[in-house]
Amino acid sequence: MKPFPWKCESCGHREVYSETLGEYTTSMDHDGRPYEVRVTNLDVVRCRGCGFVALPNPALRRLSDRLREVVGLMRPEEIRTRRERLGLTQKEMAHYLQVAEGTLSRWETGAQIQQRCMDKLLLGFFEVEEFRRLLGVPSQHGAQVIPPITGMTAESQTELKKANVIAWTYVKSMPSFAKNSSEPGQMALSPPPDMRLVG
Ligand SMILES: [Zn+2]
Repeated sequence: MKPFPWKCESCGHREVYSETLGEYTTSMDHDGRPYEVRVTNLDVVRCRGCGFVALPNPALRRLSDRLREVVGLMRPEEIRTRRERLGLTQKEMAHYLQVAEGTLSRWETGAQIQQRCMDKLLLGFFEVEEFRRLLGVPSQHGAQVIPPITGMTAESQTELKKANVIAWTYVKSMPSFAKNSSEPGQMALSPPPDMRLVG
């Protein structure tokens, strides 16, 4: 960064210095709605001649980060990390979501803030495997790898599988037990002590 003072782009005088604003509140539009965005200790540049204030790139970045928080959108690094965790390249993920690769890239660098509906799309993509499969992502991407059962003989593994099937059958048959109170094994319910039985 070149040394101060800079030339003011408003009045033309070389009187622009850096300055830290204790608090800065502004209204920012996103996706067709205005949001109030407030940040503290914002480093800006101000002209001592005419009072013109400009926001350098780091300040703009802080405002857009805050805007994301206010709107409730995923952060750029979060999008990148979650994509990488699925083992997908930008090109691949952009293909599955049917967005331009450049768009996804800008969401990840923070150069562009995703629309709210796109944020929901990303959230569904990252969190729901069925949704990814629906969009054509091969299931090995991000699928939970279930470790094989070790330290068991082939026989005991077969027994375990059988036991699981029996348990599942039993669970499935439970509702019919509950429906019929005359079925053996139902617990008899006694009325609370302060309640008299009528009839
Ligand atoms: Zn000025």
